[in-house]
Amino acid sequence: MTTFPKKIVLASGNQGKLNEFTSLFEQFGVEMVAQKTLGVEDVPETGTTFVENAIIKARHAAKVTGLPAIADDSGLVVDALGGAPGIYSARYAGEHGDSEGNITKLLSEMEGVSNRAAHFFCTLVFMQHSDDPVPLISQGKWKGNIQTERQGSDGFGYDPVFYVPTHECTAAEMAKAEKNKVSHRGKALVTLLDSMRQTFA
Ligand code: IMP
Repeated sequence: MTTFPKKIVLASGNQGKLNEFTSLFEQFGVEMVAQKTLGVEDVPETGTTFVENAIIKARHAAKVTGLPAIADDSGLVVDALGGAPGIYSARYAGEHGDSEGNITKLLSEMEGVSNRAAHFFCTLVFMQHSDDPVPLISQGKWKGNIQTERQGSDGFGYDPVFYVPTHECTAAEMAKAEKNKVSHRGKALVTLLDSMRQTFA
């Protein structure tokens, strides 16, 4: 029987994600550390799928730090656009993280399109070390529709145009805790924790 690692590096610079992971892993006595704190630079995401990019990021963080690592990769997948923006969600309009520009481009690509179906997708990867041949991989999906206009001011990224039928509002109008419960990332996190429990408990 093995036990949970004492320390895990999170291959992300996002403070919100670090907080979410920290509170989830506390119960197992695991300390989560952001890669930036340990001097790890972002690695080019050269994969063509979410899972490839998550593995690239986890492997890089584990290699540089010598610690077990968790990475995530997520984005918006729109049916009528053949899955775009997909892995390019953060840089759809050109510049990384330009959410306003990304939404504007998405709305213009979707002009006159009647099939508005889309989903957010998240892949999480845990690697015990950089050569780990059996990474734990979990994925989560959150279905919705692309609105024709922005609505709501919470959340981030594409939330203002992502309509959630189960809640009859956009993701940008949902309370953070509720979004975390039902979102692609929330679902992937629950599954990853389960796999880690089976591996380490
Ligand atoms: P990353 O995996 O954190 O780099 O996210 C990739 C991009 O996907 C983000 O920059 C957002 O544009 C989009 N995205 C991922 N998850 C969400 C979400 O929950 N709401 C809105 N946009 C998201």
